[in-house]
Amino acid sequence: NAVSPFVYTSRAQRVVFGPGSLEGLAAELDALGLRRALVLCTAPQRAQAERVAALLGADRVAGIFDQAAMHVPIEVARQARQAAREHGADCAVAVGGGSTIGLGKAIALEAGLPVIAVPTTYAGSEMTPIYGITEAGLKKTGKDERVLPRSVVYDPELSMSLPAAMSATSGMNAIAHAAEGLYSADGNPIMDLMAQEGIRALARALPVICGGAAGQALQAARGDALYGAWLCGTVLGSVGMALHHKLCHTLGGSFNLPHAEVHTVVLPHALAYNAPAAPQAMQRIAAALGASDAAQGVYDLARSLGAPTALREIGMREQDLDQACDIALRTPYPNPRPLERAALRALLQDAYEGRRPG
Ligand code: NAD
Repeated sequence: NAVSPFVYTSRAQRVVFGPGSLEGLAAELDALGLRRALVLCTAPQRAQAERVAALLGADRVAGIFDQAAMHVPIEVARQARQAAREHGADCAVAVGGGSTIGLGKAIALEAGLPVIAVPTTYAGSEMTPIYGITEAGLKKTGKDERVLPRSVVYDPELSMSLPAAMSATSGMNAIAHAAEGLYSADGNPIMDLMAQEGIRALARALPVICGGAAGQALQAARGDALYGAWLCGTVLGSVGMALHHKLCHTLGGSFNLPHAEVHTVVLPHALAYNAPAAPQAMQRIAAALGASDAAQGVYDLARSLGAPTALREIGMREQDLDQACDIALRTPYPNPRPLERAALRALLQDAYEGRRPG
């Protein structure tokens, strides 16, 4: 196969990875000339944020803001910006998943404060310049280099507390970034390599994490999964996504379905839809999964992890499938296979019922 023409842009971002790497967080701030951080987290992750604050030391902490919430409500973003101003913060340290890192990005966008990310899920937001803010029930998303975290500290120990069910769906969410990256309209060979390695790492690690492993085996798998999440997040931040991500955005935003679960359920069906138009990507996904077929491989992986495989299991109503189809067709975007109403509606029905792709 000859190499297709491509454009590759690299991003200026530091990544520090490894068990115990959190100890080096203060040095990351120093290296960037930052002095006082507002530490961001959700209420349930307050204890982890306090540990981070203790590691930074009182002089370097402007405060802890523990109200991060799903989809970054604008009111919360405003409160966080005000807290940053009042306490003289010159940066935000986001400790958590995509919601908390998203709050950091909202502060970066409006107040210009740089973000240091300490990810605790596999969603991958820390590696992207993509932000989302929800105002009056509408989620506005955009892309701005100012929101890209300057430094990312990946410490697998922080992910030890991520429950197995969330590890499974969050890991499938990461695999979805890599899978769509492999057939992206603006893909490139570097991202293809990262995507394949990311899928391999997660497909290896998730069964161990969800299979009740403990001790060193679990620690190693947590490391592998976070490594995979980094790779997959980088792909998400570098190349355009297609049908799968658009569908998940529609289902999550318009029908209020949980983010990582929707990704888990829809991915096999989006891949089955695109398979005839992207054979090389499908081969690569299947090989990275150790499966003979990409769509069946992700479906079987989700099943084996005990993750949801049907939209009806996660709160979707059958009578809303037509509307979901309409919304998904409204704004055109690049996708390997053209969007055809009947086929897309069939995809949604399959996902609703949780059928194994044929
Ligand atoms: P999340 O950040 O909403 O976290 C879900 C819950 O898990 C929260 O209560 C959180 O506190 C808890 N949690 C996180 N890590 C934990 C840990 N290690 N131990 C115990 N509990 C933990 O979930 P998410 O899936 O990471 O992020 C989803 C959001 O991120 C969505 O809004 C999505 O749109 C956004 N996102 C954005 C991008 C981007 O590039 N902008 C990429 C991926 C996801």
